[in-house]
Amino acid sequence: MIPAILPTYNRAPLSFVKGEGAWLIEADGRRFLDLGAGIAVNALGHAHPRLVAALTDQAQALWHVSNLYQIPAQQKLAEMLVAETFADTVFFTNSGTESCELAVKMVRKHFHDAGQPERVEILTFEGSFHGRSSAGIAAAGSEKMTKGFGPLLPGFRHLPFGNHEALQSAVNDRTAAIMVEPVQGEGGIRALPDACLKGLRDLCDQHGILMILDEVQCGVGRTGRLFAHEWAGVSPDIMMVAKGIGGGFPLGAVLATADAASGMTAGTHGSTYGGNPLGCAVGCAVLETVCADGFLEEVRRKAGLMRQALEGLVAEFPGVFAEVRGAGLMLGLVCRAPNTDVVQAGYGAEVLVVPAAENVVRLLPPLTITDAEIREALARLRKAAALVQADAA
Ligand SMILES: *Cc1c(COP(=O)(O)O)cnc(C)c1O
Repeated sequence: MIPAILPTYNRAPLSFVKGEGAWLIEADGRRFLDLGAGIAVNALGHAHPRLVAALTDQAQALWHVSNLYQIPAQQKLAEMLVAETFADTVFFTNSGTESCELAVKMVRKHFHDAGQPERVEILTFEGSFHGRSSAGIAAAGSEKMTKGFGPLLPGFRHLPFGNHEALQSAVNDRTAAIMVEPVQGEGGIRALPDACLKGLRDLCDQHGILMILDEVQCGVGRTGRLFAHEWAGVSPDIMMVAKGIGGGFPLGAVLATADAASGMTAGTHGSTYGGNPLGCAVGCAVLETVCADGFLEEVRRKAGLMRQALEGLVAEFPGVFAEVRGAGLMLGLVCRAPNTDVVQAGYGAEVLVVPAAENVVRLLPPLTITDAEIREALARLRKAAALVQADAA
């Protein structure tokens, strides 16, 4: 018999009833250190007082109005994002998937209106993840995500990760855009080197094609800059955002330059819930916190601590781990033991980590994690690694 919940997830037998900062509390009272943060969603941890206040204040005043009307919190958040980034304009969504949908539509409309309707192809990379809609799975293209769901949305071409020649020869006069995650999340915390991102930008400029960055997972302070592409000193034409921007409230956005967005006139796109007052009130509080003086500096300092500690862990357990990779507080432990064993052992040690492709265990702690919590995280990860090592022996 099919369960009441469609069984598309293999769920751990844990059910949390409360969150406090970097901690999740189980129904039986056990306290788990949360290094997954809802897969980079709870950027400011659980029940951050500022977010709780923003949400409850807005909830007392007004939950929802249609985008037929002005929404002050949406206007404020858009203006903040425009002030802090490359973007001239923003559309709000409720998820990363919806941001992917709009990014694809925006590119197609841009070239349609520019009199180049043959330019419809978007180049993407193996190991990427762009969401679960028909466009999202077609964009990522992996067999795991697409098998059985055909016919797939046409217009995507998948290239090997980090192969510059393959990319160069894939560009032709049908190419509309390149879509890439500066740091692949689901793909196993694979960071695109800054030089590659710069190279991609040059290639786009040479051929008049648009650069779409998917910063759904790596954005909003995760790498120690507001957005990961800032490290490379280049900016995209279109950027997909979600996860951390809402700090736990479903919120996403597409940021774009005026030129990339030029086709998106009144009536060409919309969303019932996108940009609703609750989500945008929380989004403003998240962005104000992350952009406050010194916040990202602290993220970078703590990222250094965490990375150093993880290097020590790898050295201590060479049978379990091979290396540390990633950027900022978006870190991956490449495992020698099965990554799922490490995740499982983490449950035993009351520390939550998340598996990713390439046998990687992801660490995406709240950006607000404290030094003491980082030390505690390491103690618990050490305990988990010892469990895995003992099982293997
Ligand atoms: C999570 C994720 C998405 C999809 O976001 P949803 O909110 O789950 O729809 C898209 N791209 C990347 C890089 C992601 O990590």
